Amino acid sequence: MQGRPQSTLARLLALQDIDAALLRLEHKRATLEERRELAEAQQALARLRASIDEATRRRQTLAEHQAELERQVTTLTARRQTLEDRLYGARGMPGRDLQAIEGEVAQLGRKKDELEDQQLALLEEQEPLEEHIASEESRAVALETRIASLQEAVVAAEQEIDAEAATLRTARAPAAEGLPSELLARYDRLRAQLGGIGVARLVGRRCDGCHLELPAVELDRIAHLPADALVFCEHCGRILVRDRLETAQ
Ligand SMILES: [Zn+2]
Repeated sequence: MQGRPQSTLARLLALQDIDAALLRLEHKRATLEERRELAEAQQALARLRASIDEATRRRQTLAEHQAELERQVTTLTARRQTLEDRLYGARGMPGRDLQAIEGEVAQLGRKKDELEDQQLALLEEQEPLEEHIASEESRAVALETRIASLQEAVVAAEQEIDAEAATLRTARAPAAEGLPSELLARYDRLRAQLGGIGVARLVGRRCDGCHLELPAVELDRIAHLPADALVFCEHCGRILVRDRLETAQ
């Protein structure tokens, strides 16, 4: 290669190699595993946050309920105290009134038991809920750490790819320089139509662009053409570079 002028087609093939490498980098950048993992972790965190929010709202409801029960118990206790005070000072009170007060005190006692049972049931619900929220929150912290390191990994991978792509782009300009503009235009057109690959090698009987074999008649026709003649794959339409051109000249 060194010191020897390469044929136009061999040079086009070299350009294609650079473009194909750029394409691979573009694909690699778009499909980074770290980015996929990052998106997954972010989704998991969003789900976790929603679950924590829901549990926190439930905790709030329980706390409000608990406070309301507390108020009721306080009111009830005060009322019972008042009645009991009245009973202690009830000398001379008609028996019927005494009975009524005692009846109410007993009723208040039952009501208080009931409220305390409810408070106990609430506590039993609150405790596992607190534990659940605490463990979900520690999971969220772990996920946040993972997300931060994945974000760094994505940036690092992108920078590495970008540096590689920059090197290739620097090499591309001289690789394209001097190639006939008509050929370059055709090459670009083919690349646009054929997934980024406009030139293919003819390896034996096979086009390495579409991996199909050319018919014997076509191979024979091609074999008799001058080395620098433009040949297209009859299957995919790509510019074909014949094997021997790679080492020719
Ligand atoms: Zn082909």
